[in-house]
Amino acid sequence: MTKNIVLLGSTGSIGRSALAVLRENPERFRLIGLAAGSNTQLLEKQIREFEPRAVSVKSRKHARELQEKFPHNKMFFGAEGLQEIVSLPGADCVIAAISGTAGLPATVQAIRLKRRLCLANKETLVAAGDLINREIAAAGAEIIPIDSEQSAIFQCLAAAPRQYVRRVMLTASGGPFFRDKHRDLALISVEEALAHPTWSMGKKITIDSATLMNKALEIIEAHHLFHLGHEQIEVLIHPQSVVHSLVEFIDSSVLAQLGVADMKLPILYSLGYPERLAGSCPQLDLPGLGQLEFFPPDRRRFPSVQMAYDVLRQGQNAGAVFNTANEVAVEFFLAGKISFTAIFSVVGHMLDKGDYRPLHDMDDVQETISLTRTKTIEHIENEVMK
Ligand code: NAD
Ligand code: MG
Repeated sequence: MTKNIVLLGSTGSIGRSALAVLRENPERFRLIGLAAGSNTQLLEKQIREFEPRAVSVKSRKHARELQEKFPHNKMFFGAEGLQEIVSLPGADCVIAAISGTAGLPATVQAIRLKRRLCLANKETLVAAGDLINREIAAAGAEIIPIDSEQSAIFQCLAAAPRQYVRRVMLTASGGPFFRDKHRDLALISVEEALAHPTWSMGKKITIDSATLMNKALEIIEAHHLFHLGHEQIEVLIHPQSVVHSLVEFIDSSVLAQLGVADMKLPILYSLGYPERLAGSCPQLDLPGLGQLEFFPPDRRRFPSVQMAYDVLRQGQNAGAVFNTANEVAVEFFLAGKISFTAIFSVVGHMLDKGDYRPLHDMDDVQETISLTRTKTIEHIENEVMK
């Protein structure tokens, strides 16, 4: 049966990989709606190729321009536009691949409508994991992760009931500076930080990989996705990015999922689950790969991993504070206004000063996000940049 797909974030790195998967499987998947920010040039090409019923963009202006070019498609814009797109009648799967938390309300809507949530966007669970889990339980909806480490764990967990799991090990490439132990991280330029050794991704997540904040976010993501305690989640540096993550069971047996570093693989799995579909990703050439290495993370140089455990211990809105402070710090780093290591000190400062409180609903999440954003900008402008 053909599944109807809605894609949020179609012009991004994950979005483009998702469209490649749909292009290769036209008899399995039909794109009925897509949403993107402001890259209307690429969006126009995508609309011409996939002919979705409806499209949403960030601004009213872009929606108007597109409507003139595509009079037969429904055009929406803004946060409400995203809600409209996930609500399209007959949608089976929603691929959540907008960066940041702009897609949060639409993601909740998708869950409430019992769409399968194919989740790339980790910020959703980091900022609002408990509330999202409550929504999933209430709706009886399913989440199939796309983030490659979580997809690996999801696949390994299928081998045995949950009571037999001892711990999971999230692998991390270590980023571009892992081997360069004597490098002064404070002097790293934006260009150097954007040169990821194994994965090609959007700018925000590439910087997060270099700071290991990406792994910190994934520790929190894994906690919410798989209902694991913080003591059951560990991180392993694995520079080759071939083993995407591992699960250890109580008998000390370890299962791992391996594959080429191509997001088409977890996207195809997430859309096809529980089936496995033949795809175009190259097979692994293990003899050709040579050595696979594993190291513990250097927690002194990269304090991010410890921050994730602190956030999980703190609970309440700490995930939203952490995610927002990091998002703002990365924006300032990318703009050339703060140093690479200032990302650690800014996020650490915001966690120390955190105004922690329980999250009762999504309005509380949005409030934490906007308050933390304002306070982080203030902190950077008044204390870090002067
Ligand atoms: P990206 O920056 O390449 O793409 C982001 C997409 O979101 C773009 O299409 C952009 O137009 C859209 N967008 C941004 N703001 C929007 C808004 N307000 N309304 C509508 N659309 C908006 O990012 P990416 O690398 O593709 O990552 C997307 C998400 O997937 C992130 O949450 C990231 O953490 C996660 N993820 C990415 C990868 C990867 O390999 N790139 C791997 C694992 C998880
Ligand atoms: Mg990942």
